[in-house]
Amino acid sequence: MLVNHWIDGKALETVPERAGDVYDPATGRVTRQVALASPAIVDEAASAARAAYAAWRTTSLAERTRILFRFRDLLQQRAGDLAAIITSEHGKVVSDARGEVARGLEVVEFACGIPQLLKGSYSEGVSARVDVFSIRQPLGVVAIISPFNFPAMVPCWFFPIAIAAGNTVILKPSEKDPSAANWIAELWAEAGLPAGVFNVVHGDADAVDRLLEHPDVAAVSFVGSTPVARHVYETATRHGKRVQALGGAKNHMVVLPDADLDLAADAAVNAGFGSAGERCMAISVVVAVGDIADDLVGRIAERIGRLTVGTSEAGADMGPLVTGAHRDKVAGYLDAGVRDGATLVVDGRNHAITGGGFWLGPSLFDRVTPAMSLYTDEIFGPVLSTVRVATYDDALALVNANPYGNGTAIFTNDGGAARRFQNEVEAGMIGINVPIPVPVAYYSFGGWKGSLFGDTHAHGTEGVHFFTRAKVVTSRWLDPSHGGVNLGFPQNE
Ligand code: NAD
Repeated sequence: MLVNHWIDGKALETVPERAGDVYDPATGRVTRQVALASPAIVDEAASAARAAYAAWRTTSLAERTRILFRFRDLLQQRAGDLAAIITSEHGKVVSDARGEVARGLEVVEFACGIPQLLKGSYSEGVSARVDVFSIRQPLGVVAIISPFNFPAMVPCWFFPIAIAAGNTVILKPSEKDPSAANWIAELWAEAGLPAGVFNVVHGDADAVDRLLEHPDVAAVSFVGSTPVARHVYETATRHGKRVQALGGAKNHMVVLPDADLDLAADAAVNAGFGSAGERCMAISVVVAVGDIADDLVGRIAERIGRLTVGTSEAGADMGPLVTGAHRDKVAGYLDAGVRDGATLVVDGRNHAITGGGFWLGPSLFDRVTPAMSLYTDEIFGPVLSTVRVATYDDALALVNANPYGNGTAIFTNDGGAARRFQNEVEAGMIGINVPIPVPVAYYSFGGWKGSLFGDTHAHGTEGVHFFTRAKVVTSRWLDPSHGGVNLGFPQNE
């Protein structure tokens, strides 16, 4: 079966020049092919999106909102179908995939409020007979480029708001799990979205690079690894586009000596191994402050021992990694950690699962130091590292010295310490006794430092601002008393 591009309201039927393999990570078998777009296909999608823009931007807010509500209802009714598709190509267990769809749905619901979100302001009589008002207008054609780890939720961070605001969209999903994007495109069509407003182009760097320079693309929302985010930001801004490029992460969880260690251990396991660690908000480093490390590491190890690795059908907690290459890369970090002298407390390589597939069990390291690759690199797999520090100040310095700044969490019962941390730590999203502080849809998602290039975060008010531009209108309706010619700079009377 071929997953083909979706352009102008339908899937293409032409045979692509290039195609890639899509795997079922649980079996390791190729289940589908995905078309890989040439620049000419990107141009075709851009033409369709540009053609649809003229009518879509002038479609009333009432009608746009009705279509969004229909899309929202369909997505809610069929969330289970989408979750099954995600699991079949990404590998995360179905309960986790359902959570992903639920969080994406929340952004759709936020976008259903677009009439309220687009309200401008009006000042009457700023000068003699002069009124001023501000409005926000759509940008045109916008590109969304998304990573493999949330094939539905991450596109949902952007396209509901972009479409609601009157833009037309080209989505370039990850080529590793492309089917969710086409499923979403079909749902939009069923909801009554006009052809050409939502397009899907599949592919790799060739497709992305054409989008970044295409004269019809006004803005780019990107989510992926930091090197590619930097490339996307630099290239697309050079071509005059508005860009938000969200990058990788290395999220720390600081545990203070007064914390509830059972709560902290549960949280570390949930946030470290959910989705097999393939989350940009996964906890990767546990920072044990003071003398709690032995106790904390013991509690985490005991919980890891109870985790089950396998398929959703078998009722497992954790599924496989996305590809064989990624599994091997993550396993390579375990070898490197042992070589570098870290203590391997739980070894995920011991998880033997028969029948193929990209399996790796959860691993826990203790006595990791900031010089080790376990610490310096974003591993993006089921590997938790413990770094021991003496004081809160040491923990803060460690987190702030890290080049990433996506999410971070502190576990403590000391409100004053938590308050200090939220003020002093350099990251975009902070959890206080919450390990995965992903903001709700009406707040904005985004990191600091190497975790975000650009200055606008995803969804919430910042998302609405990203997909619109402001106009201020100064108007005067004449009354019988004309002012006559005056070459001076306008001053308010
Ligand atoms: P990736 O950077 O490999 O790919 C992301 C997208 O870029 C894909 O659509 C891919 O086709 C495209 N791409 C890949 N290489 C490219 C290149 N050289 N030139 C142009 N385009 C290219 O990321 P991934 O492996 O799919 O996803 C995992 C990464 O995404 C992790 O680093 C994770 O932290 C990050 N991520 C970040 C967030 C966030 O909110 N900050 C959210 C989810 C994932």
